[in-house]
Amino acid sequence: MDSIRVGIRVRPLLDREKGGLKWAIQGENTIVPTTPGNAGFEFDHVFGEASTTDQIYRTITRPIVHSVMQGFNGTVFAYGQTSSGKTFTMMGMEDQPGVIPLAIQEIFEYIEDHDELEFIVRVSYLEIYKEGICDLLDPSFTDLKIREDKDNNVKVHGLKEYVVTNIEEVTRVIFVGNINRTTGETKMNERSSRSHAVLSMAIESRLKDGDSTVKVASLNLVDLAGSERLNATGAAGKRAQEGIAINKSLFTLKQVISKLAEGNSSVHIPYRDSKLTHILKPSLGGNAKTAIICAVTPAELYETELTLNFAICAM
Ligand code: ADP
Ligand code: MG
Repeated sequence: MDSIRVGIRVRPLLDREKGGLKWAIQGENTIVPTTPGNAGFEFDHVFGEASTTDQIYRTITRPIVHSVMQGFNGTVFAYGQTSSGKTFTMMGMEDQPGVIPLAIQEIFEYIEDHDELEFIVRVSYLEIYKEGICDLLDPSFTDLKIREDKDNNVKVHGLKEYVVTNIEEVTRVIFVGNINRTTGETKMNERSSRSHAVLSMAIESRLKDGDSTVKVASLNLVDLAGSERLNATGAAGKRAQEGIAINKSLFTLKQVISKLAEGNSSVHIPYRDSKLTHILKPSLGGNAKTAIICAVTPAELYETELTLNFAICAM
């Protein structure tokens, strides 16, 4: 279904991985194991180590940002094992801005270019760890509750939302959230690789002269928890555990995404089975647009294969 776009991003080998190349890109859009005799996986978009985040942004994320500006919800996920490049892709580095700063830049450019419209932009930033919701902009609020009204509006009760009027303001808000995210990590080992970070930008717009109809849409930018199996030892152990959910939200996300990808509107979609999918329910399916960037390392045979399998189910 074309409301879900999937891109694979293969990062370069890290220094500690030198010599351990297990996957290679063939042609434009096929990724294959380097061991002979193994079939490759074909996708619409495979981005190799020389690709930039800007290229990925333009190919699969920009249309979502544009549709959010026009009043339709959208979500961008970075999926993959720990150290596959999710945060690099979403946040980026100084010399290579991530999807989040690129989206923010585009949002404010759009606002500049549309003088006839009045916008209000609000930002919130939360983390889901072990099915508990924590406000990254006010970490004294942990275990926040989800409220859904009869019109299917989903709200995280008590979550802080800040109105931002320019790039600098939103950058500062995100900076604070990121500090809170890593502070939590020193207290709890590996927390940030086991948690989902959801940055939401709510865009409200109305015509300056005209009727007072207000459009509201959310852009959700999600750095998912590492998809690797916990407590896995050796390939045999890993395989044996394949069906075990290490993370309820990731497991449910796969169910939800694959059902949405099937495009059968009569099938039940288990949004409420996890906090992540429940919160994102209004921004998945229906008129909403979704992009999934699957980050993989070329040095890992098995985990990369699992990530590619996840990507396949979104198509
Ligand atoms: P994750 O968030 O999935 O755990 P990171 O984004 O932290 O992984 O990436 C792990 C390491 O690999 C970091 O040191 C990061 O800078 C580096 N890295 C990831 N993707 C790329 C890339 N496309 N190009 C260069 N370095 C990358
Ligand atoms: Mg990360």
